[in-house]
Amino acid sequence: MLEDKNQERTSLEKLGEFGLIEHLTKNFEIKHKSTIKGIGDDAAVFDHTDKTILTTDLLIEGVHFDLSYMPLKHLGYKAVMVNLSDVYAMNATAKQITVSLAVSNRFPLEALEELYAGIALAAKIFNVDLIGGDTTSSTSGMLISITAIGEAKEEEITYRSGAKANDLLVVSGDLGAAYMGLQVLDREKEVFKVNPNNQPDLSPYSYIVERQLKPEARKDIVELLKKLEVLPSAMIDISDGLSSEILHLCKSSKVGCNLFEEKIPLDPTVISACEEFNIDSTTIALSGGEDYELLFTIAQNDFDKIKGNPSLTVIGHMTDESEGAHLVTRGNTKIELTAQGWNSFKSND
Ligand code: ADP
Ligand code: MG
Repeated sequence: MLEDKNQERTSLEKLGEFGLIEHLTKNFEIKHKSTIKGIGDDAAVFDHTDKTILTTDLLIEGVHFDLSYMPLKHLGYKAVMVNLSDVYAMNATAKQITVSLAVSNRFPLEALEELYAGIALAAKIFNVDLIGGDTTSSTSGMLISITAIGEAKEEEITYRSGAKANDLLVVSGDLGAAYMGLQVLDREKEVFKVNPNNQPDLSPYSYIVERQLKPEARKDIVELLKKLEVLPSAMIDISDGLSSEILHLCKSSKVGCNLFEEKIPLDPTVISACEEFNIDSTTIALSGGEDYELLFTIAQNDFDKIKGNPSLTVIGHMTDESEGAHLVTRGNTKIELTAQGWNSFKSND
């Protein structure tokens, strides 16, 4: 629905592979001393003083993104965010990225310029150097693989495995908005199919649509925790939904958890969208995914340092492993958490 039929279209074949790479990457600047050689040789060279953190993600058209409502600039931005979020979840600073791309001949140069504009914006705001990648053709659709490289002091790296019983469980931001944004976009896409002249009014949904199309990795939370002198005992980013990430922490750390339903942070627009779509907002927060918030555990002694911070919410605490992982509902019922949210057929009372 966002395709502009009057766009200029320069075919990729005209430029050739080297011309294309040069064209797309020529405006990227190298900002970090640790980048010794970026684009332009057989391989990049970098040198970190501390430990090097590396993460990679593969995004496939039709599986991970839908170009009928995802503008390419947003896609480029989001593809970087997804990776940086994993670096921040290790309590590390992101420094470099590589971008690998497969595109079919359906994409003109202008489309890739849009994609790279989003990548460039993300690289600028989050202060990372683009140091390489690969470009190839695809028989159908677009594939993007981004690798992010970060740096952290060994003693500051936060693994999923460090949570202890009685630690507090904390989440940044609010949950469920990206999923509800996707519901709105999907609905508008169906409306558009029936009536292409109907321009959707997304303004009441701007927050949740933005959370879906333009997520922001929580670099600010890593910096905030440093400033507050809080070192999480364990940390993970929320890509799949709160409950599945809690279960990852519990499994890696060999602990249990009590999550309190009434504490789960929800934006008012998520609550109203859930009412409109007739879905339970707790289910969405637990299973929605793509929030890219940080979920971490801290020692109880650190509570005073984070207390009252508007970006952070204590949503529960860890327990002995033998107690299992549970959602404590508003009605004070304890329900076992499952990766899909919770098992509503299995109450422990
Ligand atoms: P090679 O044949 O050695 O793989 P390429 O011609 O693929 O080299 O790449 C030349 C240079 O351009 C390398 O530094 C590579 O990392 C970089 N590069 C290739 N594709 C991309 C891309 N899509 N984005 C950023 N850099 C790229
Ligand atoms: Mg190559």
